[in-house]
Amino acid sequence: MPLIAETAVSGTAYSFDMLFSYAVPERLAAAAACGCRVLVPFGRGNKRRIGVVMKLSEGSSKGLKSIVSLVDEKPVISGELLQLAFYLREQTFCTYFDAVKTMLPPAMSVSAKETFRLVKNFTDISSLSEDAARFLETLCCASDSASLNDIIGQHILDNGRRLPDELCDAGALDSDNVFRQAVGDAAVRMVRLTDRYMSSPEKFDLTPKQKKAADFLAEYGAAAVKEAAYMCGITEAVIKRLCANGAAEEYEAEVLRKVEDLADEARSPEDIVLSEEQQKARDAVYAQIADRKPAVFLLHGVTGSGKTSVFEKLIDDTVKSGRQAMLLIPEIGLTPQILKRFRSMFGERVAVIHSGLSHGQRLDEYKRIKRGDADIVIGTRSAVFAPLDNIGLIIIDEEGERSYKSDSSPRYTTHDIAKQRCAYHGSVLLLASATPSIESYYLAERGAYRLLEMKERYQNAPLPEVSIVDMNLERGEGNRTEFSRRLAAEISANLKNGEQTILLLNRRGYHTIISCCDCYQPVYCPNCSVPLTYHKKNNKMMCHYCGYVSEPVTVCPSCGSERLKNMGFGTQKLEEELSTFFPSARVLRMDADTTFSRYSYEKNFTDFREGKYDIMIGTQMIGKGLDFPNVTLVGVLSVDKALYAGDFRSYERTFSLITQVVGRGGRGGSRGRAVLQTFIPEHYIMNLAAAQDYKGFYNEEIAIRRAMIFPPLCDMCIFCFSGNEDISVRLGAEAVLKLMNERLRELQPKTPVRVLGPVRCSYGRINGRYRYRIIMKCKNTAEMRRFISGILTESAKLKEMKTTALYADMNGDVGV
Ligand code: ADP
Ligand code: ZN
Ligand code: ZN
Repeated sequence: MPLIAETAVSGTAYSFDMLFSYAVPERLAAAAACGCRVLVPFGRGNKRRIGVVMKLSEGSSKGLKSIVSLVDEKPVISGELLQLAFYLREQTFCTYFDAVKTMLPPAMSVSAKETFRLVKNFTDISSLSEDAARFLETLCCASDSASLNDIIGQHILDNGRRLPDELCDAGALDSDNVFRQAVGDAAVRMVRLTDRYMSSPEKFDLTPKQKKAADFLAEYGAAAVKEAAYMCGITEAVIKRLCANGAAEEYEAEVLRKVEDLADEARSPEDIVLSEEQQKARDAVYAQIADRKPAVFLLHGVTGSGKTSVFEKLIDDTVKSGRQAMLLIPEIGLTPQILKRFRSMFGERVAVIHSGLSHGQRLDEYKRIKRGDADIVIGTRSAVFAPLDNIGLIIIDEEGERSYKSDSSPRYTTHDIAKQRCAYHGSVLLLASATPSIESYYLAERGAYRLLEMKERYQNAPLPEVSIVDMNLERGEGNRTEFSRRLAAEISANLKNGEQTILLLNRRGYHTIISCCDCYQPVYCPNCSVPLTYHKKNNKMMCHYCGYVSEPVTVCPSCGSERLKNMGFGTQKLEEELSTFFPSARVLRMDADTTFSRYSYEKNFTDFREGKYDIMIGTQMIGKGLDFPNVTLVGVLSVDKALYAGDFRSYERTFSLITQVVGRGGRGGSRGRAVLQTFIPEHYIMNLAAAQDYKGFYNEEIAIRRAMIFPPLCDMCIFCFSGNEDISVRLGAEAVLKLMNERLRELQPKTPVRVLGPVRCSYGRINGRYRYRIIMKCKNTAEMRRFISGILTESAKLKEMKTTALYADMNGDVGV
């Protein structure tokens, strides 16, 4: 019997996605296997597409198209991960191919280029159809191979593959597919000035824009190409020309350096001495690992309780028993620090996977894992798909972070994937945080997870002494600055003592926007419903969503008034105030504007740690997971706005942020201090965070969630609609709503379902596309997922949805 390959094909839309059956030709039958990538003819024109074989069976190949060729001689995806792809598709409503693709490093995405060649001594013209014979004549007139391929390429575009295929089948034409790997990655392409330029810049004749870039590089030394372009408000092409000029050079940031460079002094796992509490947590998890039965633990350990030491010990235990371990962490900015720590203990056995690596580096790490050279994987979200084949332990650190939820297809939650893998391998999933997500803590309370607690800081290091400052009083007493007198005094004291300070800002509302004094309108991005932010560094207005850049405006676009003013308060403005108050302080600013590349994160954190700065200011990213021994003061500058972000998770996020940042202080022995500035000092979030009282917060929060019916008391599926025309997107959403209500009536689901909307999304327009959403509160069961899948498929056929895109995101963010 012939072999049939059921194949996930690239480039399909969810509404017509399925496994497509292809016959496996004799010549490929021996090598074809599940998990191999293949080239297949697709659609009416039989265009070549890449696919992945998901299932193989024997059967009749009658009427089936055949696989053209195999990309891989051996499967690139294991049986376990193939099964996971089916799970991903069922859970997240993505296509089969998207599911598979997300498991492979980006460098493994191939494109195929087909080339043709005339067969020299072909004579059997009589066997050809008339059309084919005429086509062959045309081809014989081609002057060279390039023009031959152009003619055929154009013909396929216009008329499909029938004639070329006939010529190939008759032996008049030969075709070959060349696969090209995607390589090169702009994210870590770095640029610096050449020695030649630095020694005699006057010899170079630069355009004003090139000059700007050169000045920037002279000040900063080196930068990612993207970063330099952004900071100078120029395109990357300008930097290319600067390099062509010989003034600058591009190079690949070497992110993965040799172990010797990266590691602190070598440490041995044997040297770790756990505290009693740590030991207890470790023993409980270890017993379960040894038992080889899947289980989930939630380790709730206060900040500074030493969760990392427990991880180290458990990872050592796991690899000693011949199994593999995975440690997932949230922000890419944290990777170097953690990596260093683990490399110093486990050396080359550690592989790293995160999006800050170049494609080539990611591929190398992937191969090392596949070969079995690395049995410890550390990485961000996507590392959960690492090709390990004998997992004993998966740790998700700072498990409450939202970055564990993917916000592009496939829209998975890392925890769910980890659970699947643990179920397959009979291994342990360890979730850990000082501020677990409400969802996870709820599951622990209900006994689905086993709760482990570490209530003490390591060596009883005292918690920082926290003071809450009422900013209303400050204003009432005439202090118009962003620094309360208390905080200003504490900063002075720290500067005098040579101790370091961290100042935390909230990302939302902390941008300088320009608005009109007459009509009160801010200046909006022309593509997005988001105000543009003013950046002093490059004197430009920018949109953080689509990257739009413009010169600062002088006339209000809404009413023509010239009375414009800077509103709000960016980190840049704060920096100015700081330099007025503390002219001698060395200030490091860490926010999205200065930290584009992983490279600058790493360097900045290292510099700060080494004492090259007195004060670090920044948003979320500096709040968590970092350990700076010399930081004795933490200032939280109004995070109030974050509480009202219009999303049911904003309390949770704010509590977590404050708790974590306050927990940063005072780790090196001396007692830390924290100052929380707020306009709502009586709010329970402030007080509970100040006291590091997670349980108290959880009790308040779960009561609200219960009363309002929010997750974890239900699941929330978000249907997001987008398109180029406001009215048609809205009409599309309304038509889908009608369809949903009809189908729900027919289905009569077992658990109640509530459908809300459609409403305009919080950011109603992004990148020129209008956005609406429908929220469905439901229970995430197989029945509901079938329902959602059906709606996505059916709605694609509605005439109202012709120009509108739709996706469903289970438990996705509502705040965007
Ligand atoms: P957490 O991540 O739980 O907030 P950390 O893992 O950063 O806490 O630990 C806090 C501090 O205590 C760190 O400086 C860490 O090196 C130290 N520490 C924790 N446990 C141990 C241990 N068993 N032996 C030595 N130092 C420890
Ligand atoms: Zn105006
Ligand atoms: Zn924009």
